[in-house]
Amino acid sequence: MQVTDVEKVPSLFSRTNPFQAKVLKNMNLNGEGSTKETRHIELSLEGSGLSYVPGDCLGVVPDNDPELVASILEVMKWDPETAVVINKQNETLPLKEALLKHFELTLLSKKIVQQAAEFSDNEALKQLVADTEQLKAYTDGRDVLDLLSEFGPWKASAHEIVALLRKMPPRLYSIASSFAANPGEVHLTIGAVRYMAHGRERKGVCSVMCAERLNEGDTVPVFVQLNKHFNLPESSEQDIIMVGPGTGIAPFRSFIQERAVSKAAGKAWLFFGDQRSATDYLYQEELEQYQQAGALTKIDVAFSRDTAQKVYVQNKMQENSQELFAWLERGAYFYVCGDKQNMAKDVHNTLIDIIEKEGKLSREEAEAYLNGLQEQGRYQRDVY
Ligand code: NAP
Repeated sequence: MQVTDVEKVPSLFSRTNPFQAKVLKNMNLNGEGSTKETRHIELSLEGSGLSYVPGDCLGVVPDNDPELVASILEVMKWDPETAVVINKQNETLPLKEALLKHFELTLLSKKIVQQAAEFSDNEALKQLVADTEQLKAYTDGRDVLDLLSEFGPWKASAHEIVALLRKMPPRLYSIASSFAANPGEVHLTIGAVRYMAHGRERKGVCSVMCAERLNEGDTVPVFVQLNKHFNLPESSEQDIIMVGPGTGIAPFRSFIQERAVSKAAGKAWLFFGDQRSATDYLYQEELEQYQQAGALTKIDVAFSRDTAQKVYVQNKMQENSQELFAWLERGAYFYVCGDKQNMAKDVHNTLIDIIEKEGKLSREEAEAYLNGLQEQGRYQRDVY
């Protein structure tokens, strides 16, 4: 049983009715000189009735970047105070507030561009929507400001344009704390997303809101999203192996805290990786303390940019292949969290390599072994 499985009283707050959580702490985990900015955010759930177990996610409803909203208002010469309808119930908001809080501005869909084309005589736009391939390529990495500034003049009111937009979707983050270890609180580990595309700096809506505009004492709308597919073993006697480079560390901080509180008998092994040991070893002090206290049995770290040759978490798994396989043979659960595109695939293949080598199995047998683990719920992934 998990420590937080105590009296479950349903909360009034949910995805459709988020709780305004107060920010208790907001700090950058990366040291000076890092190429990254990873925020550690602590929120209060006091009075919400919300709770969670390790593996669950927190939904955060972000605001848009005020600079992006100001640029749209300027390009369109719109009056910020114009009332616009925001939903099917015909509720209205002043335009500026609607753009800040209600609509998604940073993603373009083919449908939005096609519908917007009805409001313009711009020849280039007509040509663009006539070619599905080109239209798809155009929407990639562009936003509502790109569309509005490139293809005017527009024969539409602010109301008609915002009616094309999608409601702002919440962002889900793996919770980085254990409720049992931090009653009434929830912690997040969020990497700020910033990059250049099509000649403008682009910012992750929620991650940059958290990095630049969320101060201690402010509130932010949140809800808990259960995750049935990423959980600690039922029995705290089972061993766990956790692979979580970068922000993939988040749910494992929760796992480790939970197991420290419950004084779990099972062993715990963490593989962590990031760019540089001096600036990017997230939660280093805490993790080392958990190791000294016995809640973490073993930590293996891979810093990819400390050496000429990159070292990744899967290299550390390879170096420890015999021991890793022995843990699996004794019933350990294997968890992966973080980048889906490359890391999770490489870790998956490395795991098969290890099972093949150490179990003296064929490739097919090793794959079947891993499928078996998955069926038993002993191979779980939270990748994004
Ligand atoms: P991250 O970008 O996943 O980086 C953490 C560590 O993983 C770094 O040391 C990185 O090394 C390393 N890494 C890179 N490729 C790897 C691979 N194939 N196998 C194992 N390790 C690998 O961490 P994060 O900044 O916390 O990012 C979290 C999420 O943001 C990711 O899951 C991803 O979805 C997203 N992200 C996307 C992009 C993108 O271009 N699409 C870029 C960054 C992050 P090096 O960086 O030195 O190679």
